[in-house]
Amino acid sequence: MASLKDLDLKDKKVLVRVDFNVPLDKDGTILDDTRMVKALPTLKYILEKGACLIIMSHLGRPRKKLNEHGKIDVEKFSLKHLVPHLTELLEVHVEFAPSCIGPSASNTCMQAHRGEVILLENTRFEEGETKGDEALAQQLADLADIYVNDAFGTAHREHASTATVARYFDKDHKAFGFLMENEVLNGSKMLNGAEKPVTAIVGGAKVSDKIQLIEKLMEFADNILIGGGMSYTFLKSQGKEIGDSLCEDDYLDLAHSLIKKAASTNTQLYLPQDSVIADRFDADANTKIVSNEQIEAGWMGLDIGPQARHSYAEVLLASKSILWNGPVGVFEMEKFAQGTLSLAKAIAESTDQGAYSLIGGGDSVSAVNQAGVSDRVSFISTGGGAMLEFLEGKTLPGIAAIES
Ligand code: AMP
Repeated sequence: MASLKDLDLKDKKVLVRVDFNVPLDKDGTILDDTRMVKALPTLKYILEKGACLIIMSHLGRPRKKLNEHGKIDVEKFSLKHLVPHLTELLEVHVEFAPSCIGPSASNTCMQAHRGEVILLENTRFEEGETKGDEALAQQLADLADIYVNDAFGTAHREHASTATVARYFDKDHKAFGFLMENEVLNGSKMLNGAEKPVTAIVGGAKVSDKIQLIEKLMEFADNILIGGGMSYTFLKSQGKEIGDSLCEDDYLDLAHSLIKKAASTNTQLYLPQDSVIADRFDADANTKIVSNEQIEAGWMGLDIGPQARHSYAEVLLASKSILWNGPVGVFEMEKFAQGTLSLAKAIAESTDQGAYSLIGGGDSVSAVNQAGVSDRVSFISTGGGAMLEFLEGKTLPGIAAIES
């Protein structure tokens, strides 16, 4: 597989799939440009090498959120809203093609020269995009000489612009962008070459979302620290009273078998010893700290307690590699954020002492930001679902399409 740096880009037309799925307000103003900024190294590099840059992305789910006439809300989901800011970021005029395929797109691309930038309209306006349609992929491929995928956030989707399109380019005419390359390098480092002891924190609402991750982790992690809503399904499977805490009763047997499986492997599975419990799911709820041996009816566990915070931090500080996916409490509410924020700080401290830390999953990323330690961890992934699937050991279509 070629690296972007190995490709001859001079005077070539380069089609780059980025993840510009940024949040917009109702007037089309960008609320957070992180995803655009993260793509800049790849975009600027391609321009500097004397290529013509053709950028494509999806924005939102326009076919799922039709307007009151049952049609695509072009105004709301158009990538045209990004043109002024992209122009500022790249410091180059950006030509907008009001469709990603068809005569206007192909004429605009055909007439463009080196150093010029074209932004294509939302790929998800096309019905074939999410179906991985070959005809659509071929039309996109016809716009360019080289294809670059820098959209790690959608690498787990087999869509026309993320996977199918790559089939129309041979291995010397396609590559990962720098953002994607870095994600793959870091994810692979965790899966294949992590220095021991390896500790993973697995949090979040549901155990059903993280089963495959936990099973994969048992192949190489020394410690798995369970937190968040999913802990209560594990605790209940051990016969503990969990009151009104979140529980997936259909997964009790599975949670029990995961605990047994961990005991038969070299992985130590930790469940929190105590919780911050609340009398309702509310930022102003009454709270108390109790042992997880018995949570009364009418109360629910919404954060790990001080004992768990302390023992989890000790494990993290003794680790050489750390993976974090999912908050260990309802950190969106201040009263239940302590556990998550204290673990973020423990990860930063361990990283200061030489550990490698990978933070994946949207909520863990915002927790690291909230704790003010984002510059003290080793790598923050931009792809929540994509990184989760990568770490589960799955083949991601967007990656496979470039590698093959
Ligand atoms: P996930 O997307 O699966 O990583 O779940 C993240 C969500 O889990 C966040 O919105 C948290 O508020 C929520 N969460 C964490 N701990 C709990 C808990 N103890 N009870 C209910 N929800 C929780």
